[in-house]
This record gives sequence, C-alpha cells and structure tokens, in this order.
Amino acid sequence: MSLQPTDTALVTGASSGIGAATVRALRARNVNVIAAARRIERLAALASETGCVPLELDVRDRDAVAAIEHNHQVDILINNAGLGRAMGSLATADIADIERTIDTNVTALIHMTRAVLPGMLERRRGHVVNMSSTAAMHAGPTALYGASKAAVHKFCRDMRNELSGSGVRVSEINPGRVATEFYDVAVDDPEVRERVQNTGITELQPEDVAASIIHMVDAPWHVNISQLEIVPQEQIYGGYHFAVLS
Ligand code: NDP
Repeated sequence: MSLQPTDTALVTGASSGIGAATVRALRARNVNVIAAARRIERLAALASETGCVPLELDVRDRDAVAAIEHNHQVDILINNAGLGRAMGSLATADIADIERTIDTNVTALIHMTRAVLPGMLERRRGHVVNMSSTAAMHAGPTALYGASKAAVHKFCRDMRNELSGSGVRVSEINPGRVATEFYDVAVDDPEVRERVQNTGITELQPEDVAASIIHMVDAPWHVNISQLEIVPQEQIYGGYHFAVLS
C-alpha cells in the first residue's frame, strides 16, 4: 500500500519524540493522521502545526482503546507509545514501574492492534508498525525494558504469520539511541540521567526514525518490510570481551 491521501494513520505516543516526528512526516505526505497521547496540550499544538487530529488517550485505558475502531477507520497503526522504567536494576525496581512498563510497551500495544484489526481485515487492507528497539535483540543491562521489546519482536513475527493472506502488513522497527524525552521519563535521579544521556556520540534524531517509518508504510503493496534496525553510525552491538585475534 503506497501511501494514499485517503489513508488514515493513528500514531500513539504522538506528543513528543519519535511519535511527533512521525506525525509530521505523515502529514507532509498528506495522510490523515490521528495523533494520540495523554498530553493533550502538546497534541493541540501539533494539530495547529500539521493539521493532524488530536486524540487524548492513555493507551492503557482498555475501554478507550476498544472504542477507537467505532469512531475512526484506521488504515495504518503506528504503535509507538512506550517508556522505560526501572532501567537501573530489577532488584530495586518498584512494582508499579514493572507493571507500567509491561502494560504500556506490551499489553497496550496488543490491545491497540486488537482494536483496529477487524476493520483492516474486513477491508483487506492495513498496516501495523510496532515500535520495538535494539534492546529486543541485543543483550543489555535493562532486562525489564529488553523483555518488553522482545515481546514486541515476537508479537510482530507471529502476527505476520497469523495474518498471512489477509492483506494486512506488520512491521517492526528497532531503533538504537534516539535523542528524545525517553530518559527524562525513564530516570528520576538528575545525576544518573545526565550520565546516561551523555553518550558522546551523534545520536539519531526522531526525524531519522520517522523517515524509516515512512519508508515502511510507503513501500509498494507487494512488499512487507518485516523488520528494520536503525542505529547511530557510532553505536555498535556485540563483539568479544575475552579474546581478540588481531
Ligand atoms: P518520548 O518520551 O519522547 O515519547 C514517548 C511517547 O509515548 C510520548 O508521546 C508519551 O506521551 C507516550 N506515552 C507514554 N505512555 C503512554 C500512555 N500510557 N498512553 C499514551 N501515550 C503514552 O520517547 P521516544 O520518542 O524515544 O519513545 C517512543 C518509542 O520509541 C517508545 O516505544 C520507546 O520505547 C521507543 N524507543 C526509543 C528509543 C530511544 O533511544 N529514545 C530507542 C528505541 C526505541 P504522553 O506522555 O503525552 O502520554
């Protein structure tokens, strides 16, 4: 499905970072966009700027999520809302942070997909893009967050299988470090936050990730970009720590 001006895209987590950049990129392609998040004042500003339709939504609100398909026909769902909490150590994690991370990153994403799928299946046309992370695939010191994104990865793979022949595409995007408000939400201690945010590399900008999302949703209809990893040029994963050959 190359992008059509008649398409309606729903972007969750649209009030900042990657989500807001994706709204701008989709609106630049003349797609109708519903921009969803909790901070409605930010969405109102984005609506004035881009012409998107703001939707105040907590993705963990099951009733509000279930009602979406009654009120909107969604052709493209960008399941982007997410966060990292208890990134430092599971041993000292608050129970509430564990619940919030899994509920937002995994359970809500599944419910969002559940809400729009029947309409997509009926129309035999749709695209679900799920925001994962390099943390889904590479070992790191953030077990809770990594597990939540690994669940998204498996969900994407199995949904591709489940939806085979249905006309509905599923894509996973796995960004590395992106300069957003992610760590403002993730880390409470200002000193730790400063340390974590100071990577010393040129990080991705939200617009870089949005451009990759556009590449996925604008692909010709016979193409399904199942997974796309995008990282800063200076960020690498893996390598041996115990032996080198040269
Ligand atoms: P931001 O903190 O800038 O954006 C997060 C967005 O998620 C906000 O718009 C926020 O909106 C929304 N959100 C959080 N919780 C809820 C909720 N319960 N209901 C509705 N919306 C919610 O961070 P990013 O742009 O970086 O994060 C976007 C996605 O990208 C996340 O899934 C994150 O895990 C992923 N990611 C980020 C990376 C990075 O390095 N930054 C790397 C890889 C993946 P509001 O608070 O207004 O509701």
